[in-house]
Amino acid sequence: MANHLFDLVRSRMPAPQAPFAILDDGRGYSYADMLDVSARFANALTALGVKPGDRVAVQVEKSIEALMLYLGTVRAGAIFLPLNSAYTPAEIEYFLGDAEPAVFVCDPAKETALKPFADKAGAKLETLGVWRSPEISAGSLSDKALAAGTDFADVARGPGDLAAILYTSGTTGRSKGAMLSHDNLTSNALTLVDDWRFTRDDVLLHALPIFHTHGLFVATNVILFSGASMILLPKFDPDEIFRHLPQATTMMGVPTFYVRLLQDARLTREACAHMRLFVSGSAPLLAETHREWRERTGHAILERYGMTETNMNTSNPYDGERVAGTVGFPLPGVALRVVDPESGKGLGSDEIGMIEVKGPNVFQGYWRNPEKTKAEFRPDGFFITGDLGKIDPAGYVHIVGRGKDLIITGGYNVYPKEVETEIDGLEGIVESAVFGVAHPDFGEGVTAAVVVKPGASATAATIAQALEDRLAKFKQPKQVFVVPELPRNTMGKVQKNLLREQYKDIYTR
Ligand code: AMP
Repeated sequence: MANHLFDLVRSRMPAPQAPFAILDDGRGYSYADMLDVSARFANALTALGVKPGDRVAVQVEKSIEALMLYLGTVRAGAIFLPLNSAYTPAEIEYFLGDAEPAVFVCDPAKETALKPFADKAGAKLETLGVWRSPEISAGSLSDKALAAGTDFADVARGPGDLAAILYTSGTTGRSKGAMLSHDNLTSNALTLVDDWRFTRDDVLLHALPIFHTHGLFVATNVILFSGASMILLPKFDPDEIFRHLPQATTMMGVPTFYVRLLQDARLTREACAHMRLFVSGSAPLLAETHREWRERTGHAILERYGMTETNMNTSNPYDGERVAGTVGFPLPGVALRVVDPESGKGLGSDEIGMIEVKGPNVFQGYWRNPEKTKAEFRPDGFFITGDLGKIDPAGYVHIVGRGKDLIITGGYNVYPKEVETEIDGLEGIVESAVFGVAHPDFGEGVTAAVVVKPGASATAATIAQALEDRLAKFKQPKQVFVVPELPRNTMGKVQKNLLREQYKDIYTR
């Protein structure tokens, strides 16, 4: 048996001297370097005692070495477990205790604080040791990798073996480890390569974090499986984007990237003329942003929808109309349906319900949590995504919001997206978030936080008034708050849990 994921990397590889990555400091990384360095990490991990099926947990800043550590882990037959670099030591304690990794790799600055938690979980603590520095710190994992050889016999792993565990962002309750097999990752990335027409000529502008499915699997695996290359930026910074844009052919981003770039005068039709594709995902892209981007650059952003547990589920078409405010069609091989959340009965077109998916992209279950896994799958194998949406008569999928964000007020269901769309359409509004807050009479009260354009005259009172003849009374916000910005996580998702917390007693005090 061969190593399912890494064999595919090898079989799709261009000439060894072809570029794999261009780093922000100008260093180039060829496919031959990728093979050598990932072998060195595989050797270093094996020397540390990492065995097939062991977890290698990693909390480091973004770097090419971190990506090589991902590939080295896969080659060693182990399970890569990236953790958000923003997690605090207390949060890390939970993840290490839950995952019980054989090795935990962290940044040198956090070593002292994290040592007791690594010890408690029985994990060997290592530092990656290289962060945009020509010096490799003595004793670090990179130092060990450098001393190790570039020959490594990839450990046999089949399609169903685990390649990674990614913890979900967990805005309610403890986050859970989604177990992803070699085939979950490879099948999805190959589908995306075809669907988005990636070839060896492509150069991807990569400014996403690599602890998340978007930057790690969608971006990196698509490049590896198309033999293309990427410009690896440590983070999203408009100056760096514009500096590297002339060399790129494609970019993948979260909606915030597009919103921020639209605020920059350097974003012109000429600057983007050579680009082939802009992809957005991980959070809803406002239809307004899609329209503005098209007007400014001539490009229709391709919006797609996926999640940690399922990889990518849908995509707007490469050819054909990319419809703003929709996430397109189910990808080849992915079955998607919209059902009544209670009965599980299939719904007709344009009817809002729970989105469920099935296919080779769907994960193997939650790590050490069979009850939760069982609860989120239907008996016929469909995974209950937790996202509410609908399929329109043309077949485009629309996401209406997370199921837990549904507001039930006076016995009526209110879909926040419908109210947000009305608010966003008003004069002088940037964006809004609508959420439910405990209300003594109605159960929940519809509440809105709204960002107003600088200099615009809209106020909470004018917004509330403008909605009066646009929405049924029960859908109208009982209170509107004008706020400077909406709280977002690193992937650009609006954190409604924080808004619910902040305004929790406005109707009861
Ligand atoms: P994560 O597991 O962090 O990737 O988050 C997955 C969730 O992000 C999904 O369940 C959706 O709620 C949301 N999401 C991802 N892509 C989109 C999109 N294009 N439009 C709306 N929501 C999205």
